[in-house]
Amino acid sequence: MQEMLKPIIEIQEFDMKMIRLMRIKRERQKELKQIEDLRADLHAQVNEKKAEIEELNKQIRAHEGRISDISEKLKALEGRQSQIKKVEEFNALTQEMTSTEREKINVEQKISDLVDRKQIEEELLEKIVESLKISEASSIALEKEIQSSIQMINKEGSALKEGRDALSTTADPETLRIYERLLRNKKDRVVVPIENRACSGCHITLTAQHENIVRKGENLIFCEHCSRIHYWQEAEALEGTPVATKRRRRRAAAT
Ligand SMILES: [Zn+2]
Repeated sequence: MQEMLKPIIEIQEFDMKMIRLMRIKRERQKELKQIEDLRADLHAQVNEKKAEIEELNKQIRAHEGRISDISEKLKALEGRQSQIKKVEEFNALTQEMTSTEREKINVEQKISDLVDRKQIEEELLEKIVESLKISEASSIALEKEIQSSIQMINKEGSALKEGRDALSTTADPETLRIYERLLRNKKDRVVVPIENRACSGCHITLTAQHENIVRKGENLIFCEHCSRIHYWQEAEALEGTPVATKRRRRRAAAT
């Protein structure tokens, strides 16, 4: 069983690297998305402002059309003034002219307000366009950096996958299947050694009996607390590894 777990443990190291790599990739993709969102937001603001200004232009043109109609009307009224004989008629005409002039002043005031508003909107548009330019210039370098780092991650990822695929052909299919199911659940190391009579996955202390069964290495033994697969690491197999050094130190301290 211990022999059977060896390729799985190696595969596991590939999978841990892949999980770390994918986590970094997601982070970088998120950064890229934030930059894109900011730019899209500024573009939307520019378009919105432009539409507002276009709407104001339409209103101004409509009012200007109204002014020329009123002017025509005034001219016609003035023409009639000279032909009128009766005082009442003259007074009525004068009243109409006055109210028409008042209307003209009214519309002119509206145009002036609209032109003022348009000017404010145009200044705002200019500011948004400016900040869009600044943000685009500053984000280009950052975006390039992120994109090239994602490319490198992808390259590293396919190299990892190749290595893992080659290894997986050497593993026992049934054990590999169990391992992969556990990995999907935990997204962490699921084949772990017993250290100091504790599961090195969940760190809960195990019974001496459990440790003995694992040491025998006859079956796949799962941690009863976290379901990870346990294996026994012989001291000589660990020579030169950080675990061995720790153990030796512990042993030295005990004697
Ligand atoms: Zn455990």
